[in-house]
Amino acid sequence: MNITPLSPATFQRSLLRWFKQHGRKQLPWKTDRSPYRIWLSEIMLQQTQVKTVIPYFVRFVERFPTIFTLAAAPIDEVLQYWAGLGYYARARHLHTCAQRIVADYQGEFPRTLAALQALPGIGRSTAGAILAFAFGEAAAILDGNVKRVLCRLHAQAGWPGLRPVEEALWKIAEEYTPRHHVAEYTQAIMDLGALICKRTQPACAICPVQKHCLAYQQFDPQRFPTPKPKTNKPTRSIRMLLLMNDRKEILLEKRPASGIWGGLWSLPECSLTEDIPHFVQTRYGCQPETRSLFAYSVMTHPFSHFQLKIHPIQLRIKKCSTPAVDSRVLIWYNTEQLTPIALAAPVNKLLSTLPLQTM
Ligand code: SF4
Repeated sequence: MNITPLSPATFQRSLLRWFKQHGRKQLPWKTDRSPYRIWLSEIMLQQTQVKTVIPYFVRFVERFPTIFTLAAAPIDEVLQYWAGLGYYARARHLHTCAQRIVADYQGEFPRTLAALQALPGIGRSTAGAILAFAFGEAAAILDGNVKRVLCRLHAQAGWPGLRPVEEALWKIAEEYTPRHHVAEYTQAIMDLGALICKRTQPACAICPVQKHCLAYQQFDPQRFPTPKPKTNKPTRSIRMLLLMNDRKEILLEKRPASGIWGGLWSLPECSLTEDIPHFVQTRYGCQPETRSLFAYSVMTHPFSHFQLKIHPIQLRIKKCSTPAVDSRVLIWYNTEQLTPIALAAPVNKLLSTLPLQTM
């Protein structure tokens, strides 16, 4: 098979022609391209698919329509609107970043790569996307979709998480990024990755750049990008305690601001070998009825670097010395009214799916 050499101008032309007809133009962050909405969507879209992000984005901008409303909001409320999207450090950085932009830039996003990248949670690709989409500046992006397209187009070997491979991809991304129509081009290459050059089963037969694609020429597009070298993820096991009082309320504890589920409400937890009645008594000042103990099936929750095995146990609380319950870090949560609060994802799942025992 002959491959047609690919110049940036040819690539841009083929892509823009395809985008005009097939691109996604109705995404809610594209109808009003303010830097705030572009930034918010880019942060939400990290490691998360468009169809998952859309309802979160819509609810978020309804509650926090501007960078000022977001900066002024309590972090607990921001986390509540984020709960379910995962990677909560993103929400905390988002909030700090909004406060920095209000304090240092009077609420206006800076317009240089360096200044944007100096803000919390904004990497090179997000900074490029803000410049391209909101300000029409010729800045390249390299998100997951774009990495996949470029790896295949150039049959780029090596896992893109490796510095030299990533640098090679940035160089290609910059060469292809046009000076004009940069917002359309950027959306087009993202859409090509999402709609045509998909992770599995790329639709090469209808791809607008097929005749320039080296991976296609090698009859094996899915060989690219090279996958991350496999490591066996370690497993950690914990007990999560559903401590229920007479009013059918469950005790929740706020997680520390940093670490997993930082700042979110979660269930009390302990090791599998802990003496549960003693633990509950000494840590929370509550006396459990040991005969009321009920064990649910084990749940597995994946993190990027380990698997968490959660062993949920429910216990009824007889008496509680309430001074131990500090409402900033401990609350009794009504399981029948389920007021919206920022819950860790597995806790939300446990509370909404488990048939809690009334005992
Ligand atoms: Fe991706 Fe196939 Fe298009 Fe190559 S030809 S860019 S592998 S969809």
